[in-house]
Amino acid sequence: MNGTGNIVALRPFPDAARLELNDQQLRTNLRRATHTIRDKRLRVVGEVDDWEALRRAGAAIKDDVLARLPELLERFEESATRAGAVVHWARDAAEACEIVTRLVTGTAAREVVKVKSMATQEIGLNEALEAAGIEATETDLAELIVQLADDTPSHILVPAIHYNRSQIRDIFRSRMPGVTDGLTDDPPALAEAARRHLRAKFLSATVGISGANFAIAETGTLVVVESEGNGRMCLTLPETLISVVGIEKILPTFSELEVFLQLLPRSSTGERMNPYTSMWTGVTPGDGPRTTHIVLVDNGRTATLADEIGRQALRCIRCSACLNVCPVYERVGGHAYGSVYPGPIGAILSPQLTSSGANSTLPYASSLCGACFDACPVRINIPEVLVHLRQKGVDAKRGKPSAERAAFVSLSWIMRDRRRYAAALRAARRGSAPLRGRGRLRRLPWPASAWTDSRDVPLPPKQTFREWWAKR
Ligand code: SF4
Repeated sequence: MNGTGNIVALRPFPDAARLELNDQQLRTNLRRATHTIRDKRLRVVGEVDDWEALRRAGAAIKDDVLARLPELLERFEESATRAGAVVHWARDAAEACEIVTRLVTGTAAREVVKVKSMATQEIGLNEALEAAGIEATETDLAELIVQLADDTPSHILVPAIHYNRSQIRDIFRSRMPGVTDGLTDDPPALAEAARRHLRAKFLSATVGISGANFAIAETGTLVVVESEGNGRMCLTLPETLISVVGIEKILPTFSELEVFLQLLPRSSTGERMNPYTSMWTGVTPGDGPRTTHIVLVDNGRTATLADEIGRQALRCIRCSACLNVCPVYERVGGHAYGSVYPGPIGAILSPQLTSSGANSTLPYASSLCGACFDACPVRINIPEVLVHLRQKGVDAKRGKPSAERAAFVSLSWIMRDRRRYAAALRAARRGSAPLRGRGRLRRLPWPASAWTDSRDVPLPPKQTFREWWAKR
């Protein structure tokens, strides 16, 4: 079954990217933020002698999980149920939203507080709750900024990375209740304003909604890793806790956490350890929420699992290291990808989860430089999957007429015969003679302009190797 929700791009990547490239402020903000995080990551990763062994261990554990996912999911359901949680299964985004909305409505709550969660963004939960008359408040600071601005996140870890301090101050002044024009863009002042705003929400909400970084099959435990502590308030204060979890988040036992709690903080925020790691197992009388629900979401993951090369995308632990080193992401930002999963991981995950529409352009949103593979803590070979998805796209169109196909048929006819090839080279040299001083061709007439719109063409050499050789 194909995935649905906020992972389906509405327009092709090249169109969206062209628009974003016009935003100079966006590029400045992104460059500053991504370079800061990537430098921090490099420093702390450099401190770990066995980093490569840890990466390999992370990849191996995730591959093992993917190989026996049905068995581990059943074990997780058993353990979580035994501990007092109620487990639900959702095939796609619509089903997941319907389950969560029904659960919230059943408590008679009209507002909920949320821990930052990619899964709930993926399924479009806030929109579904709003349609049901339920107000959802994001409690992660960056997520709150995006929500107040009526915007969408543009980074996995820092959803408001595209804003600078003064832009955030302006959003708070105009959209946050109780904030006056006297608010400065000093980070502590902005954090204090958000804290006051959120405190009232924490104290009044009876339902909390979270995702999970990991789900332990052995015990039915969920794990949330965060930096601010607001997540822990959402996880402990409300009477009802609903967690939306992608089915690939499973780990067999607690002992595997040792590997991921070393890989994740260093790769995501460049910290040796994140400040808050919360774990909960079902319900505990007299402590924390009285009712816990866990919604296990497929939304295209099973279909992705069926692809032997593409399935490695399901190892992803959403650290965002690949975004921070990607030259394409740094210039266009997250919105160009049209999905809650931007950057290199988005370019391979969104098309596989949904397998349709404008997402088919995403595997081309890369220079294939390989920086993402080097940065990935679970060794997802993103360039390999990108090429594989491009190949699948070409195969799907094989036999159908297109300008690209016509060009390659002509090229293949020319290159099959040495004399034809030499004649074509001579003709290209003569045709480009007037442009020789400029070094490269910037624009060719249609249909070749489809190529030169975004690439330069090198001029043919003055002399071929064969000509040079013949003269000796
Ligand atoms: S693909 Fe790798 S680097 Fe990118 S977010 Fe996922 S785990 Fe992190």
